[in-house]
Order: sequence, then structure tokens, then C-alpha cells
Amino acid sequence: MTTLQAGSATVVGQVRAANEDSHRVLDDLVIVADGMGGHRGGAVASATTVQVVGDTATGGTLEDLVSAVQRANRQVFDDARADPSLRGMGTTVCLVGLVEHEGSAELAVLNVGDSRVYLLSGGLMEQLTEDHSLVETLVREGRLTPEDAEVHPQRNVLTRALGVDPGVAVDAWLLRPADGDRLLLCSDGLFNEVAEDRIAELLAEPDAPELVARRLCAEADAAGGRDNITVVVLDVSDTGRAPEPLVDRYRRFSTPAVDLFGEDDGPNTDTVLAVVGTGSPQGEAAVAGPSTGEPVAGEAEESAGDAEPEPGAAEPPVVPPPSPSAPIVTGDDDGAVRRSWWRVAVFAGALLGVVVLAFAAVTYVGGTGYHLGTVDDEVAVYRGRTWGTLWFSPQVEVRTGYSLDDLQAAGRRAVETNRDFDDVATAEGFITQNTTTTTTTTTTTTTTVPLPVPPVLPPGTPTPVVPVPLPPPVTVPTP
Ligand code: MN
Repeated sequence: MTTLQAGSATVVGQVRAANEDSHRVLDDLVIVADGMGGHRGGAVASATTVQVVGDTATGGTLEDLVSAVQRANRQVFDDARADPSLRGMGTTVCLVGLVEHEGSAELAVLNVGDSRVYLLSGGLMEQLTEDHSLVETLVREGRLTPEDAEVHPQRNVLTRALGVDPGVAVDAWLLRPADGDRLLLCSDGLFNEVAEDRIAELLAEPDAPELVARRLCAEADAAGGRDNITVVVLDVSDTGRAPEPLVDRYRRFSTPAVDLFGEDDGPNTDTVLAVVGTGSPQGEAAVAGPSTGEPVAGEAEESAGDAEPEPGAAEPPVVPPPSPSAPIVTGDDDGAVRRSWWRVAVFAGALLGVVVLAFAAVTYVGGTGYHLGTVDDEVAVYRGRTWGTLWFSPQVEVRTGYSLDDLQAAGRRAVETNRDFDDVATAEGFITQNTTTTTTTTTTTTTTVPLPVPPVLPPGTPTPVVPVPLPPPVTVPTP
């Protein structure tokens, strides 16, 4: 029988006055939530979420967990609407729970927002969740490198969170557990301060989960602690299974952003889960799942957040609710006075529109024309204007067969300054005319640098269930 052993730690960090993260460790379920919103809202949103999810996810299935997260979303949304001092609050949530699925024990992984779940297995650490953040969206679309994303000034901008709308789409996966699996749940206060390969190193230490969790928190705190840090480490044993590659044992589900728990219509037993198909955010196939009963009040085992309401704080202005697609901003890095998140969200939405337009324009112009450069010391013609490389990797259109040494001074200069040309033939002609040799025969090869493609499905994969393209694993050096 699959056994889970968890250990956790949380610290407020060096900058924040209060801890707005919450977490909860139950027998077969661990939850991390990172709250946001002025005054005490963030702490309330995250504490409410871990409490509601822990109390209502009692059915032991993936559907129950998704339903519990949607219930928590509705609770936070209602509380924010009912109390002006909580208006604008929201929270991320990620969780791992042991569930039964088609007769076998599986680990459910759920996520909304930018808290993360990682798996360390066989010396590899891989991120199991996808962040719902602006920068992550840009990375997925190939517009931003993961390295740039780590230091991007807008990395706090969320595209999805609990408490913002009456219904929420929940990302959900099932992981077939294996002996020796170690999972890590954390708020962004950890991975924004500590590099992933260092996280993997610390996670691989053969110590008890709680000690490892405390070490990870301490390292993020010492690295700056610009945000609250929460870490849960979960060890898996007694599965009777050896680790397999993630692609063979990890399946993705998703849910529509439905409001299952509106006050008027009450609990609803309609479709909860939809299996995700490749390339479509929500597949057509559906798995029906029962929803749980009324939320039960209970005490959260672990819920941080000792923020006091700020005395004399003015009532926030009445504003229309943000549109579902408006980005949501969590926290700030410098501890400055926090603006109402919606105000930032509206601004970020407008800014995003401008950025998208600018991107489209530059991509269009930058993607036309050609320029000179070198590849492996060989002079080549690249597709795109040189300043188009601000946005995307240039693609080699033609290799000329010449090295820089084969060119006259003028030709060399043109290559070194990446001179632009309107078409390939002119660019090639220019190089040929500027060679130091009189040879007129040149060999040219057309090479197109392939864009990264998602992994191909192995044959025999059940159709409705599709493995998710995974981020590159981090290798843990063996001691
Ligand atoms: Mn945070």
C-alpha cells in the first residue's frame, strides 16, 4: 500500500511583514497556497483555501480534489465580495493527494497559479506543474527563454488564481507513484531565490522530509528572502513499483472554469473533469465526477498569516470585477506599499496588449529579409533582420561554404556587422563577389533550424489521455 511521509517548513522572509503563504499536511494530502491582496486579504485567501480543500476533499478521487479546489475558489470569491477589507484577495494553490483511479493508487497533482510541484525520481528533478503566469506563457510560446523568465520584472503577474472569478479552471494530473519518489511543493519564494539545480541538490539529500524542507527554506531566506517561502517535501514508499520515465506515468486532465458552488444553484453534480487533448486547452471527452457535500468548518493544521488589518485604511474604491483574462499580480519584491492588485491587473492588461502588438510588428518586420552571419565558422545567410533576433532565434537559411578567412576585408566586415539583404540570392552573390579566391563553384546547403516540438506520443497510448511535454529535467550530481 502506497505510503506518504511529509515534512514542511515556512518562513516569512527578510522583507515581508507577514506570511501570506499557507500550507496543510494531512495523511494523504498536502496543500500549499500563496495568498495575495492588500491588508490581510492574502493571508485569509490562502488560509481559507487550505482549510476548505483539506476539509472537503474526502472522497479519495481526482474529481473530489478538483471539486474541493473549486469550492475553495468560490469561498474566497464570496468572502472577498462580502467584506470590503478583503476585496481583491486571491491565492494560488497546488496540492498532491493520494487517490484511487480505475482501481489503482495514483498521486493527483493539482495547480492554479504559480506555486509549483516538482518530482525527484532516479536523480532527476522535473517540474510537474505549469505556472499560470505571464512569463510562463511567453516561455511556452517560445518568446522568452527560461533564463530570462527567472529575472523578468513581471514574473509576479499571474494569469489564473483562486478567488478572482466565481469559477476556476484547475490543472490536474495523475502520477503513478514509484518507490523512492520525492515530491516538492513550494511557493514562488523558493524558486525565485534558489536556482533549480541547487533546489534539486538539496532535495536529493537523503534526509527526512522535514529537515530537507527546513534547509530549502533557510537557503531561500539567506539568498534574500524577498517573499514568503513555503516548502513541503513528500516521500513515497511501499508502492511495489520501480521508477519509470515520467512520460510513461504522468497524465494530464483539465477542468472548465465552471462555478459549481454558486449560492443559488447549490452543489452540482455535472461534469467535473475533462481530459485534455493535444493542442486544445479543454478536450471534449468528459469524466463525470460527484461533488462533495457542504463545506465543514474545521481547523487548519498549518495556516500561517498573522497580518493585522491596517488601522485607518481607507475603504477601497468600488471597481468593476476584472475580466477573467486579466493578469493578476502577486506581491512585490521590494516590500513597497502594495497597490490593489486589480489596479495593477488592469494596467498589466493594457501593457500586455501593447507588448503583443509591438511583438507582432517586430516579428513581422524582423521575420522578413535576410542578414549575414556565421555558423560554426562558416559564413551563412540568416533569415530575418538582425534586430529581429531580439525576439526570436534567427534561422540559418543558407550556408555559403566559405569561412571568414576566405573573404576580402569588405566581405568580412559585412559579415561581422550582420549586413541586411532583401533576398537570399543578393546576399549569396555579395559573398561570392567578396571571396579572395576566383572559384565560382560553391556548395550551398539549406538548413532550417528546427523549432522545439513536443514529444511524439508513443504508439499504443490511450487516445484520450496524453502525456504532457515536460520541461528539461535538472540533473542531480551524484555525491
Ligand atoms: Mn509568493
